[in-house]
Amino acid sequence: MEFGFSTEEEAFRQEVRQFLQDHPPENYPEDGMDAGYGSGAHSHAFLQAMGKRGFLSMTWPKAFGGQERPFMFKLILLEELASAGAPFGPLGGCDQTAASIIQYGSPRLKEELLPLIASGQATFWQGFSEPNSGTDLLSLQTEAVRDGDDYVINGHKIWNSHAGISNYGLVIARTNPHVPRHKGLSMLVVASDTPGLDIRPIRSLTGGIYHYEVFIENVRVQKDYLLGTEDEGFVQLLGGLDTDRFWGRFYKAPYLRRLLNQLVDYANTTKRNGRLLAHDPIIRQKLAGFATEIEALRMMFYRNGWLIKEGLPTPYESSLNKLYADETGQKLTAFGMELLGMYGPVKAGSRWAKLHGTMSHAYQTSIGHTIAGGTSEVLRTTVATRGLGLPREKRS
Ligand SMILES: Cc1cc2nc3c(=O)[nH]c(=O)nc-3n(C[C@H](O)[C@H](O)[C@H](O)COP(=O)(O)OP(=O)(O)OC[C@H]3O[C@@H](n4cnc5c(N)ncnc54)[C@H](O)[C@@H]3O)c2cc1C
Repeated sequence: MEFGFSTEEEAFRQEVRQFLQDHPPENYPEDGMDAGYGSGAHSHAFLQAMGKRGFLSMTWPKAFGGQERPFMFKLILLEELASAGAPFGPLGGCDQTAASIIQYGSPRLKEELLPLIASGQATFWQGFSEPNSGTDLLSLQTEAVRDGDDYVINGHKIWNSHAGISNYGLVIARTNPHVPRHKGLSMLVVASDTPGLDIRPIRSLTGGIYHYEVFIENVRVQKDYLLGTEDEGFVQLLGGLDTDRFWGRFYKAPYLRRLLNQLVDYANTTKRNGRLLAHDPIIRQKLAGFATEIEALRMMFYRNGWLIKEGLPTPYESSLNKLYADETGQKLTAFGMELLGMYGPVKAGSRWAKLHGTMSHAYQTSIGHTIAGGTSEVLRTTVATRGLGLPREKRS
């Protein structure tokens, strides 16, 4: 295994840094909340600037408008964007959707949506969870019934990140109730302005809006908007969830490194009881410990990426890495709050806010990370069974 970057990869890193210098992230309006994963806020304008530069479709096959640039470039792009604190929030979801459309989409879906994704004009929400179906997603109740050339969808989705500011949703629905639960599911692309969709915001702990719930009443979607084969949506769902765990967390290491750097600067410049925080042996130990964990995390994700690039199986790696990323994030932000003391919870904008109020936002958003995309308990089960070969739990 090669741990270094090639000359081309280093040149590409410089290309991204130049792009960030030419497009300072702080100049871009934020349309949606920063969810604290490391991908920053949701900014349509920043996404479109990346689209113009060709970054959003650079690894796609040329036949679909891509440049067939190497897989590793995508990792470098994400790492540089996260290190700079750029607002590339919707990129991960768009990229995964594009990959699904290229693999499973109808000619019409490809023709209509790929150019919009490449230019940063289409963003997506994920309609998987329901009020009574999260971990046990196979219990979902949303139905899609074929009617001529359309599917008619009815149901209720919840916790749909950024649904109110994205123009398309990926909705998983039951198309056949007469077969075992893992069969009979289908994935449909639904335009957010389709009549019958009612997208309502849910305010989060931070005070911002990130989640939505979506009421779906007699929503008509043409059959060309089916992603893949009818009744076989579970395969895409599983693949999607696994890649989500990788692509949705790859940038966590550079993001945590950025937070850690802020804490190191703070310790180096702040006195408590007349003594510089950086001289406190406990604080020094903690900061060094986090530096070690973040470095390990970065390597684990690069290895995971390398396995994916080589087409090798990753039966548990994405679960293990996501688990480590999110729990390290929670520990680091909790320590950050402790280090800042009474200044920690002060919101951005107050003259008493330290580190521009970023730590309390990072701390509060980190709470949901061990639930989103598979809870830590469920990921541990995957590591136990697929990674360690332990038997599946017996239900009493
Ligand atoms: C920040 C965030 C963003 C999200 N974004 C989206 C989105 O965009 N689209 C979307 O569809 N959904 C989204 N979700 C929802 C998310 O997918 C679900 O919350 C998650 O799958 C858990 O489901 P649940 O909330 O129903 O909890 P439950 O499944 O009810 O779990 C509750 C608790 O029970 C535990 N538990 C359940 N089953 C087991 C088991 N078999 N073994 C051990 N423990 C178990 C869980 O670990 C958890 O602690 C998001 C959630 C968060 C927090």
